[in-house]
Amino acid sequence: MHDSYRHKGLRRQLIEELQKKGITNEAVLNAMNTLPRHFFLEKAFEEWAYADKAFPIGSEQTISQPYTVAYMTSLLAIEKKQKVLEIGTGSGYQAGILSLLGARVYTVERQEELFLKTKDFLKALNLPNIRCFFRDGSVGLPEFEPYDRIIVTAAAASVPEALKEQLAVGGILVIPVGGEEGQIMHKITRLSETEYDTKNYEKFRFVPFLSGVNKRGK
Ligand code: SAH
Repeated sequence: MHDSYRHKGLRRQLIEELQKKGITNEAVLNAMNTLPRHFFLEKAFEEWAYADKAFPIGSEQTISQPYTVAYMTSLLAIEKKQKVLEIGTGSGYQAGILSLLGARVYTVERQEELFLKTKDFLKALNLPNIRCFFRDGSVGLPEFEPYDRIIVTAAAASVPEALKEQLAVGGILVIPVGGEEGQIMHKITRLSETEYDTKNYEKFRFVPFLSGVNKRGK
């Protein structure tokens, strides 16, 4: 894996594009300027890494569009040392951004093939505080709750109760909710043991949030 001047230049341009599209969170933009997105794509597709586009990563999944990552991560408002649960590890790019922001990251993936590949890859990148789990994220990750932040990177038909329950009081859950035609980004803040505040944002398009796990070779 090599990060050339050309890659750095393309990344800088991508950051400017994100700023033009309305992303203002400096910490998020810095993290995205630091993490080489081309490491997360197959060598043959490197050219695409700094276009503001989603891209196939195998197992019928995609690496999210940079704008989407920037948007969701801004809504999360991460503070250092916070415990963050991600549902949908995919390529590991979003997990990498969370790690660079100083979070303690717990990330869950239901596709075994992708889980195995990304777990090794993230380890090789030496990014701090990322733990990968092969699970169905619709039940969250109860062993390590509560989480200060939870991010779901697949389209949910509704908000899984388990995720709301595993959120710390004062915590924030960011999740795209809706059907195949598009999902509305939701930011849910846990106000107390029993109260939640929900705010709705822009429309996005994610791969579906599925239940159960998909074992390798099946
Ligand atoms: N955050 C990823 C985006 C990957 S796409 C990245 O930065 O690349 C969404 C991922 O969510 C897919 O890999 C898909 O397999 C996974 N997914 C969908 N439903 C899930 C579930 N119930 N539990 C865990 N992962 C799930």
